[in-house]
Amino acid sequence: MERWELNILGCGSALPTTKHFLSSQVINLRGKLYMIDCGEGTQLQFRVMKLQFQRLSHIFLSHLHGDHCFGLPGLISTLGLMGRTADLYVHAQPDAEKIFRPMLDYFCKELPFKVIFNSFNPAKHQLIWEDRSVNVYTIPLKHRVPTAGFLFEEKPKQSHIIREMIDFYHIPVSQINNIKSGVDFVTPEGEVIPNQRLTKPAEPPCRYAYCSDTAYSEKIIPYIEGVDLLYHEATFSNEDLARAKETFHSSAEQAARIAQAAHVKKLILGHFSARYPDETILLKEAQAVFPNTILANERMKIDFS
Ligand SMILES: [Zn+2]
Ligand SMILES: [Zn+2]
Repeated sequence: MERWELNILGCGSALPTTKHFLSSQVINLRGKLYMIDCGEGTQLQFRVMKLQFQRLSHIFLSHLHGDHCFGLPGLISTLGLMGRTADLYVHAQPDAEKIFRPMLDYFCKELPFKVIFNSFNPAKHQLIWEDRSVNVYTIPLKHRVPTAGFLFEEKPKQSHIIREMIDFYHIPVSQINNIKSGVDFVTPEGEVIPNQRLTKPAEPPCRYAYCSDTAYSEKIIPYIEGVDLLYHEATFSNEDLARAKETFHSSAEQAARIAQAAHVKKLILGHFSARYPDETILLKEAQAVFPNTILANERMKIDFS
């Protein structure tokens, strides 16, 4: 079954509250799990959301503020206790390896698997990971420390064959994969049947963008143009714009303006400041600009395939 599901493990900002966990999400792409950020409590939420540890092979860290990465050593230690043997990739800026490698060497001496740090330059927009399912690009963000968001782009799918046309032209099974990948069919008599007559185009690839933490930055718009889903931080309400500016965070309305300018299909707000007991104020401010906005919440699963 085709699946592209976003799981929200935590969507609070730096100060702990009883309402929110710290930043972490998991994309489930047809059973493969890709984690974005790993705040404290991530491994507990992983369990609560019934995600399978052995399906996780990639962790992407946006930046090295504690609320986005303090959960990493604990999670890795747990994976070791569970007897994992498959390599685990941590995609992050170069300092991540300098910080976490000594911790792993100290606390996880007998780790039965390799932790591979894939370093990237957060100031650049580049492809940092590619496999059969997905391309992952960085999105340079504007924050107090070097920070990158991530764009997950599904690999283009094959076209769908039109069964009646395949039967009509007596196309052999051995040719079906070629037809799905766009090749024309030539009959034994030499007649060329154009591929468009035999196939329907595949659905456009799914695209998801994660932008947290960041001040308002129009520079990201070209990178996230038209994505199916945008997660954008909305730490503050308009009442606290000065604080947002000072701390290099965004307001909900600013997140909505980015969503609107980038023509995204849907916006999900997160990284909420602990100062708002009720985040409806953030939702209202965003929806006034970009109506198709929702609030993130722990244990939320969004299927957008
Ligand atoms: Zn943060
Ligand atoms: Zn931060």
